[in-house]
Amino acid sequence: MNSWTSNVAYFATRHRRTTTGTTADIDTAMRRHRVVVIGSGFGGLYATTALRRADVDVTMIAKTTHHVFQPLLYQVATGILSVGDVAPATRDVLSRQRNARVLLGEVNAIDLAARTVTSHVQGRSKVASYDSLIVAAGAEQSYFGHDAFASFAPGMKSIDDALELRGRIFGAFELAELEAAHGNEFAHLLTFVVVGGGPTGVEMAGQVAELTRRTLRRDFRMIDTAQARVLLVDVAHQLLPSFEPRLGQKARRALERLGVEIRLRTTVVDVDHAGIVLQLEDGTHEHIASATKIWAAGVQASPLSHVLAKESGALLDRAGRIEVNPDLTLPGHPEVFVVGDMISRPDLPGVAQVAIQTGKFAAHEIERRVRRRPPQPPFRYRDLGSMAIVGRFQAVAEISSMRFTGVVGWLMWLGLHLVYLTGHRNKPSALLHWTVSFLGRGRPERTVTEHQGLARLPVATPSPTRTQG
Ligand SMILES: Cc1cc2nc3c(=O)[nH]c(=O)nc-3n(C[C@H](O)[C@H](O)[C@H](O)COP(=O)(O)OP(=O)(O)OC[C@H]3O[C@@H](n4cnc5c(N)ncnc54)[C@H](O)[C@@H]3O)c2cc1C
Repeated sequence: MNSWTSNVAYFATRHRRTTTGTTADIDTAMRRHRVVVIGSGFGGLYATTALRRADVDVTMIAKTTHHVFQPLLYQVATGILSVGDVAPATRDVLSRQRNARVLLGEVNAIDLAARTVTSHVQGRSKVASYDSLIVAAGAEQSYFGHDAFASFAPGMKSIDDALELRGRIFGAFELAELEAAHGNEFAHLLTFVVVGGGPTGVEMAGQVAELTRRTLRRDFRMIDTAQARVLLVDVAHQLLPSFEPRLGQKARRALERLGVEIRLRTTVVDVDHAGIVLQLEDGTHEHIASATKIWAAGVQASPLSHVLAKESGALLDRAGRIEVNPDLTLPGHPEVFVVGDMISRPDLPGVAQVAIQTGKFAAHEIERRVRRRPPQPPFRYRDLGSMAIVGRFQAVAEISSMRFTGVVGWLMWLGLHLVYLTGHRNKPSALLHWTVSFLGRGRPERTVTEHQGLARLPVATPSPTRTQG
């Protein structure tokens, strides 16, 4: 059955149910169509807002109280932006949308037969019934089977991750200053290793290098922060493999000018408290003593994809993403849409625009069905281009056949992020923070609390040379 005929069958079934005349059926006919959206990321939020004029009741269930603008998490970690700039409260964003309500909870069960979603928060569980379901639970960090690396090399998927990294990065300089004052070895505290040469790794390495070379130089008395090492490691043979090779080379040269050591064709084989072990192209191993390791190397779909696959028989790819119908519905379930990072389709990269466009598509399809309109043509992704910021006034951008680098690329990056940053109040605040960081040398958001990563950084073992004061 193709998706149009299956959709017709789905609505015909609903119609039959409402004409048989049981109390439950009459109840179904009286109430509005219920849409449950799982996730408040790009897919979930854009799907919900696209339903604002539809004759439906939307319940968004997400495990955080906020939306996260993930592409800018590295700027929270490196002190450029505040948490509020990139993570507005979902409840606030949706406060004017009368047909939407927000529920905090982690969904761990979806019953496709009963059309219910079960979520939990602090031991309480909640069952929500749906007529249409949009699953937008995104992806998690992948350590490619080495989950033990996670505690030594945090990834960057959430606000907690970004704040933990902020604590580790700024904390490392503090500890190095103390060790230097005691005459102890501190090189490992000033060695930062970023794993992953995609946009996130490139942006992160560039910003850590700028911190060490520009921002912090005048702030310490015992250490010269410019002596810090920043390494960027990737198994690929070029940086930014999803971009044209020329842009990868430009990014490489810009990072090298900032002092970043680029290690390509290099595999991470071990990570622990004290450092990282690299396997070089010739098969030899190198141990790098480093307190701060940052993982920006891979993602895998939310575990909810396994729940859906088990219930429906849908196929998953190696990253756990679901193969969906051309209209983004789950095979055999025209009432269930999967959007964003959870979809497996060769033409759909794991980027924000895919989540935004698939979320909107699912919402429009539901609205059309409620209004008994024919379906849209199958989903087609409109590629708006890719960009990555390398450093201050340095970015690479690829938009259809055009390539931009340097200041022009950077201005495009700035404009695009201002347009897409969620929440009107955040935009002036982010612009102010960018002015302070990029025009000046400051980093306005350097606050580190005790809960953040400082305690997890390895300090040198106490030695007899240590002195008081
Ligand atoms: C560090 C980083 C940098 C990036 N940079 C870029 C970039 O420069 N450009 C670009 O286009 N893309 C970038 N991306 C990718 C982009 O952010 C993702 O493709 C996009 O966020 C996917 O949207 P999504 O809605 O599918 O998932 P997400 O945005 O991840 O949202 C998933 C939502 O589901 C919720 N959730 C998950 N599991 C459950 C559950 N069981 N129950 C309830 N709620 C749940 C989460 O809390 C979250 O609200 C970056 C990603 C990262 C991590």
